[in-house]
Amino acid sequence: MIKENLNAVLNRIRECEIKYSRKSGSVKLCAVSKFHPEDSVLEAFDAGQNLFGENRVQEAAAKFDSIRSKGINPELHIIGSLQRNKVKEAVRIASCIQSVDRIELVQEIQKQCEKQNKKIDVLFELHTGEESKSGFDGTDGIKRLLELIADGTYGRLIPKGLMTMAPATDDKNLIRKSFSTLRTSLEELNSVFPEFGMTELSMGMSGDFETAIEEGSTMVRVGTAIFGERNYSK
Ligand SMILES: *Cc1c(COP(=O)(O)O)cnc(C)c1O
Repeated sequence: MIKENLNAVLNRIRECEIKYSRKSGSVKLCAVSKFHPEDSVLEAFDAGQNLFGENRVQEAAAKFDSIRSKGINPELHIIGSLQRNKVKEAVRIASCIQSVDRIELVQEIQKQCEKQNKKIDVLFELHTGEESKSGFDGTDGIKRLLELIADGTYGRLIPKGLMTMAPATDDKNLIRKSFSTLRTSLEELNSVFPEFGMTELSMGMSGDFETAIEEGSTMVRVGTAIFGERNYSK
């Protein structure tokens, strides 16, 4: 079932690329495996999926350490709000932290990267909808951080772009507005900090990824449409 779902999602992504005149292959798929077992990740991996997203660090570490101990090495992004005391593990297991939403987190990521002798990709999470809570409230805070990355203070972080979650609403216009805000915010940041060449717009989930692609998404984060409903009681 996972294989069929995955292929259906990939087909929808490719169709959107054509429909919205996006370059072929310009939209990546991050398969969100939170709350789903290791076997589900392995099934998707066997079907050709190499990039996964998890939002709880402890769960992700248990799952992906076990997978990697078998010699299988999928790429992992942390996509959920991150507590400071989980940064060490996040830096160890992930190649990108998509949910950087405050300065304290950046300080801790820098510190842990120094300790682990690593650099790590980051996306800044922007709050673009009335109902979602997480993320920077505008580009000012992100600009201050980019200055500190540019001057070497937080040189272990490699800024790749922005991430957002659209508001949980049926109002299609609000959802679209959230995505277009992310796109224009990245354009604005790139005009001030062209040296980073940031291109990533991580936006779009199971229910809204087609609109996100129309609005310029370069990475959709899809869980339910691939793995099925999550069982939160486990
Ligand atoms: C869970 C989650 C997703 C995936 O949501 P689905 O609706 O299951 O596709 C995407 N992004 C983030 C940040 C999430 O926490």
